[in-house]
Amino acid sequence: MRPLSFLQPTSNLLAINSDLFRYFGVDSVDYRLYPAPDYFIEAFDVQTYLTWLGYRKSGYLRRPLSLYVHIPFCSSLCFFCHCNQIVSRDRDLIENYLDYLLREIRLQGQYFKNDPRVEQIYFGGGTPTVLQDYQLNNLMKEIRRHFNLTEQGEFSIEIDSRLMAHLSMHTLKEIGFNCAIIGVQDFDQSVQQSIHRIQTEYETLHAIDEARQAGFKTVRAELIFGLPNQTVEKLGYTLGKIIGASPDQICLSNYNYLPEKYKPQRQIDLANLPGDEIRQDMQLQTINQLLEAGYVHIGMNHYAQKGDSLALAQRQGRLHYGLQGYSAYPESDHIAMGISAIGSIGPTLSQNHCDLTQYYDRIERNIPPIMRGIELSADDLIRRSVMQALICHSVLIFESMETFFQIEFKSYFATELKELLFHEQAGLITLDDEEVTVTPKGQLVIGSICKVFDKYLRNQQQRQNYSAFI
Ligand code: SF4
Repeated sequence: MRPLSFLQPTSNLLAINSDLFRYFGVDSVDYRLYPAPDYFIEAFDVQTYLTWLGYRKSGYLRRPLSLYVHIPFCSSLCFFCHCNQIVSRDRDLIENYLDYLLREIRLQGQYFKNDPRVEQIYFGGGTPTVLQDYQLNNLMKEIRRHFNLTEQGEFSIEIDSRLMAHLSMHTLKEIGFNCAIIGVQDFDQSVQQSIHRIQTEYETLHAIDEARQAGFKTVRAELIFGLPNQTVEKLGYTLGKIIGASPDQICLSNYNYLPEKYKPQRQIDLANLPGDEIRQDMQLQTINQLLEAGYVHIGMNHYAQKGDSLALAQRQGRLHYGLQGYSAYPESDHIAMGISAIGSIGPTLSQNHCDLTQYYDRIERNIPPIMRGIELSADDLIRRSVMQALICHSVLIFESMETFFQIEFKSYFATELKELLFHEQAGLITLDDEEVTVTPKGQLVIGSICKVFDKYLRNQQQRQNYSAFI
């Protein structure tokens, strides 16, 4: 594989990219899932799920496993939230949920008894750290009892540093976690007030420091830009402090204001949101700050230190982007446990019930709590592979796709290649007879390049144009 050209610190990056985000936007579409859950159907039921588990058992597409465990509870509601959460401190409610979750671990475990290895576990939420140490320990023990975990696996937990009085990073490490994902957002008080999440600088920096001391192999800090009352200076201050704490990875997500879709966001005053130009400046400033501090741009707003596993995987051409974001592990089957959790077995995606009563009912009847899903078509798989190549390797070689999928690339994607000429003129890609290569500038807006290959988005736009016409 040829060496890739990644973003380098440059004093005139701001000047180079002043129009970039205006035309191509900041990465707002996250292609870790293709297609998005909006396209899942209820005809994909538990029977379809079990059929695919059967194919897996008989050796078809037998890949390593990763587990996702959803803890939906939160102690208070953040107004920017887009997750499936339940705001409650009711200990009985939480204990009851955990009881069902343990039963689901046992239930799912029986389908994967002789599977050789689980390489990744991810505890997400909600807020996994609302749980007590014994509760997290019980979940991990049950997982170990029913799945074969690899010694060198990556076992992650999302951490709310406001809720660490009853837990320590050492305890989390002892329980078995080795990757800490710490939510930061922004240190500024007015930003925190407008998103209803007060989290002191000390709490966050202490959590990062404690995780390092406890020996977590990866510490990731997650910031958001585009929040209400946020400015370029405030974000710059927060990011400077985080860089000073030296986490292995930093993720800077673009805040997506979608109040019609996510109810908590209706409490955010639209007037307080930074305008497009400010968001563009935020993006540019943070890129420069991170590159100058020696972080490597991984893609999709992710940055990592040069020695980090993601940066290494990127250099070696074995980076993967899937349900759990960037990973240095090969593609795996994801088993999702807990309400609303999304998993993937072979060429399928499926989601658990989002309602507690429904979820409990299925577990009581000893059946996987599948609510909906989708069997990916051959076309979905081709497009997902195209996006993977662009997102992870910045190069799309037509011949590889043709060999793997038995298509004639240029005729199959004739419309898309025509559209990409616009991106080529803007200097985001180079395009020739054999491949598409994403330039360093294009890596900043990789989502907009992937969008060209998104058939669902294309169909949706065609439908909108058609209804506008009639
Ligand atoms: S952002 Fe996270 S902590 Fe806040 S309400 Fe949503 S899930 Fe809970």
